[in-house]
Amino acid sequence: MNAVVLLGPPGAGKGTVAEVLVDKGYKHVSTGDLLREQIRLETPLGLEAKELMDRGRFVPDSVVVGMIRGLLESSDFSAKYLFDGFPRTLVQAEKLDELIASLNGTLEHVALLECPFDAIVERLIGRRTCGKCGSVYHVTFNPPSNGELCDVEGCALTQRPDDTEETVRERLAVYEKQTAPLISYYEAKNLVRPINANQPISAVRADVLKSLA
Ligand code: ADP
Ligand code: ADP
Repeated sequence: MNAVVLLGPPGAGKGTVAEVLVDKGYKHVSTGDLLREQIRLETPLGLEAKELMDRGRFVPDSVVVGMIRGLLESSDFSAKYLFDGFPRTLVQAEKLDELIASLNGTLEHVALLECPFDAIVERLIGRRTCGKCGSVYHVTFNPPSNGELCDVEGCALTQRPDDTEETVRERLAVYEKQTAPLISYYEAKNLVRPINANQPISAVRADVLKSLA
């Protein structure tokens, strides 16, 4: 298996640019989406995760790594994966390296979406998502064509409970402390491809596509 990691602070646009890689045959794996699915199904894991996610805290490494291990070990070894929101800690990065090695896979590169924190707060507070298909919009930067309804499903969009200003600031602090060190970790392996994420969505998507070359 091969993999690309999308790294960057919450709200940098990881989910938004993921689709250009999906068009190139990558399977999009978002740990945030997997956890929200557990919350929706009201599983014990989901109930534990919700309490942490609503406060902007991370779910334990063992839980997230377990989900990724289960997914990789039960699927096609020739698949190409796009990891979005994983790894988020050094422990997760090391475990991902071990998993990839055990499957004789390759981590191709890490696309690092760089965006100033001020822009991020505005992005996350205005983010709206479709509860049915997961499409992501922004009230100003990427509004649905149909007023406040999802373009795909036609249903009302919702705001994530962790997209309040207070929780966004907590998430950015957690990112600085726990996830930003991954940049040096991957730089030491010469895997980082920086992308300017502080541009219009179409320009960021084009740069992500170029970074694949
Ligand atoms: P965003 O796209 O805004 O960065 P995500 O959907 O990726 O948010 O994640 C939402 C929340 O889910 C995180 O704030 C965290 O609580 C939890 N989460 C997601 N991925 C991980 C992970 N790899 N490790 C720990 N917690 C995670
Ligand atoms: P992440 O997955 O990194 O948390 P998202 O892809 O969910 O980020 O994007 C966060 C919010 O910012 C969404 O409302 C999205 O529509 C908006 N957004 C994403 N990329 C851009 C961009 N380049 N310019 C303006 N808004 C953006």
